[in-house]
Amino acid sequence: MSDMEKRDEHVFRLTRRKALKGLALGIGTMVLPAKDASASVWESFFQKNFRELGKSERRVILERLEKEYSARYKKPVRVKDTGPIEGVLYGYGLDLSRCIGCRRCVYGCVTENNQSRDPQIHWIKVLRLAKERGVDLEHSEQYYNPATVPEEGHFYMPVQCHQCENPPCTKVCPVQATWKEIDGIVVVDYNWCIGCRYCMAACPYGARHFNWKKPGLPAGEMNPETHYLGNRPRPVGVVEKCTFCMQRTREPDGMYPACLEVCPVGARKFGNLLDPTSEIRNVIENKRVFILKEDLNTQPKFYYFYSV
Ligand code: SF4
Ligand code: SF4
Repeated sequence: MSDMEKRDEHVFRLTRRKALKGLALGIGTMVLPAKDASASVWESFFQKNFRELGKSERRVILERLEKEYSARYKKPVRVKDTGPIEGVLYGYGLDLSRCIGCRRCVYGCVTENNQSRDPQIHWIKVLRLAKERGVDLEHSEQYYNPATVPEEGHFYMPVQCHQCENPPCTKVCPVQATWKEIDGIVVVDYNWCIGCRYCMAACPYGARHFNWKKPGLPAGEMNPETHYLGNRPRPVGVVEKCTFCMQRTREPDGMYPACLEVCPVGARKFGNLLDPTSEIRNVIENKRVFILKEDLNTQPKFYYFYSV
């Protein structure tokens, strides 16, 4: 990206966000990009909400992004927009009796989903809890650093987006930049998000993260297999979250989410809640299962269980 293009991009982000924030609050006027803004900045400025785009309009946008990212990260980058698979509603299971708190899932997710290395953004957090207190989140610790895990007297609880069936986060978005897809995955259109962070305040699980600074993603570490609504590189000033690795799981011969694959003790289960033969259904029907903050009626599709 040339210096002029970088400046245009910056101007675009600021003006669009300001303008839309003003409109959402019923104030302000539309501020357009500088008159010498590049074609790509103008195209982004006038881009419709992703859900309103036709197939050919989407193709144009995906190709523009692929070109931009390929130049920025110096490798061929793919940006998909694979939709939900018919008859699939995703669910996730986490075996608390197996998790050893090693955080491999945290870093597997960072690598797969192009999260910022500097400043660090983690879509998964692992909480350490004292066995004697049980699931007492108020006394949990996110920043623990023992020589070895698991530690005597403790157990561990990974938390990420629960892809709620009744998500409070999507309801408060003033510009409909975030929504639930029919396979249950809650997504964000980073080109439409104005960074107001209402959704972060509404999420009771702390599952959303804001890019306060330009995400630091070294070219050599960038995963070039991306999804428009998922792990493509994010700009500064937008909110992001786990999408159950939609770039992997929505393929017809779907792979598991990266966090499940790297877990060394098999504490993670994933599958189709509508398929009675799936692993996740087996967990729900045969194990002691619970969801977090059930009283809030968010109806998470992330189930904690004990296998032993
Ligand atoms: S966990 Fe939070 S971000 Fe995820 S769907 Fe539920 S409310 Fe939204
Ligand atoms: S920060 Fe959240 S609520 Fe605000 S625009 Fe972005 S997605 Fe919507």
